[in-house]
Amino acid sequence: MIIAIDGPVAAGKTTLSKILAHRLDSSLLDTGAIYRAVALASRHQGINWSDEPSVAAVADQLEIEFRWIDGTNHVLLAGEDVSGAIRTPEISQGASLVSALPEVRTALLNLQRRLGSEGNVIAEGRDIGTVVFPAADLKIFLTAQPEIRARRRHQEWLQKGIDDSYDEVLESLRERDARDENRPVAPLEPAADSILLDSSELSIEQVATRALELVDRARAGDISG
Ligand code: C5P
Repeated sequence: MIIAIDGPVAAGKTTLSKILAHRLDSSLLDTGAIYRAVALASRHQGINWSDEPSVAAVADQLEIEFRWIDGTNHVLLAGEDVSGAIRTPEISQGASLVSALPEVRTALLNLQRRLGSEGNVIAEGRDIGTVVFPAADLKIFLTAQPEIRARRRHQEWLQKGIDDSYDEVLESLRERDARDENRPVAPLEPAADSILLDSSELSIEQVATRALELVDRARAGDISG
């Protein structure tokens, strides 16, 4: 079974994906981490994030690996653990910029399909239901009001010692969402057959419960992928 979870920045996709993967004994495919790894690898090589052919070459040769260690999805780039390094505000912006480049998206498509092709998978991103796995068994579009998403992300960053203000987090979130929604290739939009889940007023447990109900319905053939 392939479950696609798409949605804007900080909607809770990663948290929900982890719970579903655990409950359904599935593997996780965090496609945002792949774009983040491309941004980081480009930075390491001194390549400007707007230099499309060079960033696409980095994407083409990306040596990325995911490893599940102690309940955390670790990301390895050419063997080096970059799980923390890809989650800074700077690399968030870099990932947003490189992911808008069509050649980069093309370069990463087969990699994502290959990584997600083994058994049951929960794949999260922006274009999973529309482009990467259009035949997914269940497509969830997870969203929440921007202010609520910014508040959650701000809290998360404070816990990590990143002291960007709430206003900065909200501004960056709006900017990244707008870039994702307005790019010509694979923009962020719900697939026609996706199910909208708004987590603004829900706890993570409530979101997970609703998602698991949707999984049951999809299995029963009540929702067509
Ligand atoms: O989900 P996450 O915030 O880690 O993704 C980082 C960036 O990668 C996003 O801001 C988005 O621009 C891009 N992305 C994308 N398509 C995906 C996953 C992520 O364009 N499938």
